[in-house]
Amino acid sequence: MIDRKKIRNIGIIAHIDAGKTTTTERFLFYSGKTYKMGDVDEGTAVMDWFDQEKERGITIFSAATTFYWKEHKINIIDTPGHVDFTVEVERSLRVLDGAVGVFCSVGGVQPQSETVWRQSERYGIPRIIYINKMDRSGADFFKAVSDIKKKLNANAVVVEIPIMVDGEFRGIVDILRKKAVLSVSDNEKGAEEAPVPENLREITDNLYNSLVEKAADIDPEIMENYINGEETDGGKLKGALRKGTLNCSMFPVFCGSSLKSKGVRLLMDGIVDYLPSPEDAAAMVGLNPSTGKEKIVKCGDGKDVTAYVFKLYNNINLGRLFYTRIYSGRLKKGQALFNWTKNTTEKVSKIFEVHANKYHEEEEAAAGDIVVLTGLKKSSTGNTLSTKNNPVVFESLKFPQPVIYAAAEPKIKSDYDRIYAGFLKIAEEDPTINIKTDEETGQIIIMGMGELHIEVVAERLRRENKLDVRLGKPEVAYRETISQPARGEGKFIKQSGSKGHYGHAVIKIEPLPRGGKFVFENRLEPGKSPMEFIRAVEDGLKEGMEAGPLLGTPLMDIKVSLTDISLHPSDSNEIAYKIAGTLALRDAVAKASPVLLEPIMKIEITVPEEFMGEILNDLNLRGGRIEQVETHDNIRYIEGLVPLRNMFGYATALRSLTQGRGNYIIEPSLYEVVPPEELKRIRGI
Ligand code: GDP
Repeated sequence: MIDRKKIRNIGIIAHIDAGKTTTTERFLFYSGKTYKMGDVDEGTAVMDWFDQEKERGITIFSAATTFYWKEHKINIIDTPGHVDFTVEVERSLRVLDGAVGVFCSVGGVQPQSETVWRQSERYGIPRIIYINKMDRSGADFFKAVSDIKKKLNANAVVVEIPIMVDGEFRGIVDILRKKAVLSVSDNEKGAEEAPVPENLREITDNLYNSLVEKAADIDPEIMENYINGEETDGGKLKGALRKGTLNCSMFPVFCGSSLKSKGVRLLMDGIVDYLPSPEDAAAMVGLNPSTGKEKIVKCGDGKDVTAYVFKLYNNINLGRLFYTRIYSGRLKKGQALFNWTKNTTEKVSKIFEVHANKYHEEEEAAAGDIVVLTGLKKSSTGNTLSTKNNPVVFESLKFPQPVIYAAAEPKIKSDYDRIYAGFLKIAEEDPTINIKTDEETGQIIIMGMGELHIEVVAERLRRENKLDVRLGKPEVAYRETISQPARGEGKFIKQSGSKGHYGHAVIKIEPLPRGGKFVFENRLEPGKSPMEFIRAVEDGLKEGMEAGPLLGTPLMDIKVSLTDISLHPSDSNEIAYKIAGTLALRDAVAKASPVLLEPIMKIEITVPEEFMGEILNDLNLRGGRIEQVETHDNIRYIEGLVPLRNMFGYATALRSLTQGRGNYIIEPSLYEVVPPEELKRIRGI
């Protein structure tokens, strides 16, 4: 078993197209795990193993993969770049100890990289920076660095600079060692060390001195040497910079060209040198579900196993794979664990180490590692598993509600059941996808986070299950809520044959702030009603929440208090109280000024300056509110909020408005009340 200090759990965070996939693929190549170098453009990259990703050239699913470098075990999670899937980013950030931020040497800090950078900041993840694509014309390392300092407000610490000769990327100067690493060919095997080129000596010395100053701030001994004019050895300097990186006060900057295989090996050294081991990472704070008290889980080898499932993936050959991080203890194959989220015992049948799409079976997994488990029956993403005598749950991920839906029509009618089952499996893997059937039409409805998200799901079904579906027009998933408190009453009295049914409930409802969902409070005097009738009323209320009075879309953000109940000596039964609950909610909502809520999206658009006017006009027509416009060279970044209902087909619109030069990312941000005139239009009245 590998020494835990030699494990690195890292992610690569970047704007789409910055080169995550290519870089990861090169890591695997140099570590000796792949033998033929893959290329994203040809669709053969190892990480993009998922067919569909190959075709689209984007990486959507976090595939955890392991490789070894300089006796270190590096578990890498390929985080997605498309923002329809930010929840995938969040869930991988949760289990990582460190990350490599990949930036394009020409594009600098692009909007998506900024979003992901901030997300990782929230989780306090130490990062190193890699300026990729140094081979591109227009590559400007120092501009990218200053962009990072300015836009991300990050203390970027340059540890390498590129050697450019006539605009060509020839090699790298390692500042700490004051050595040049020259690439003789487009292959690092041919790299050779040389003295720093004459024209870069001064800047190298300056950068070296600045590194020493930064290190001196961290380590008093280095400070003393510095004051006395003595040299500190390279290892010690690196140690100090590592400390600074681990506490997120500095971010070492590397450079290279993954495509041309230059600088990648030095970057791999950087991962080992600067990013944390599981022992360096902060202890996890969980909750003891038995006592409700906080519980700290330290990374260590004790008997108590604690593990966290961060991703579920259905593999055609191996079945359900649970990507899991072990936080404490040593997990053995065949071991039983308790799932505290689901209150059930699970048995781990096998443990795998993953290399892209290859699975290597292991006998055990130790604290700090990321592995794939099989054999779990009830567990899902976000669940905590641990030994029975060690009760603990980590906070579950908060998944946003789906904002868009489309009907899925089987091409072949008899495929209906298989299609439904296929969708359910995908929904199990991805909690931001919901599946239901339309009660009136019997159609399957897929709900998700965006147009692309839903398309991808349908395409997975086509490829993985060979099931063809036609997707209907995507529609906005509206919600309903109330705008004032009200009282409501529901009574269900019926005689069927010799048996009578009686249920009666009185409730009070109040609006909750956005995101409050549904809260139930029993305000009956103790002993007023048997518990089962109260529970039945609550079930009826929940059912009532599924369809509001305006469009029949789900209600949200309502608090319901049960204030009264009446009983019948012989006819009271659960079904009747359930129906009474639904009727009471309907009655109360009608009196509480119901309103329609719509998803408002946060949009970030990047366009060349000359298209700015048209883009703003167009956004205006779509009911958008501009929040911020930034200029970076002649590129404008526009940030704003727009109602989702006006954003269908925006990709095409933007392309034609900008001659294909505009980019945008969009994600659900909040719910707002639909204006009355718009509500009329939507309801067709
Ligand atoms: P991802 O979306 O971040 O995973 O990016 P990819 O690795 O798929 O790369 C996106 C595009 O950039 C592909 O066409 C790559 O060939 C290209 N690319 C990646 N790295 C480099 C590089 O170092 N130099 C150049 N010129 N292109 C690169």
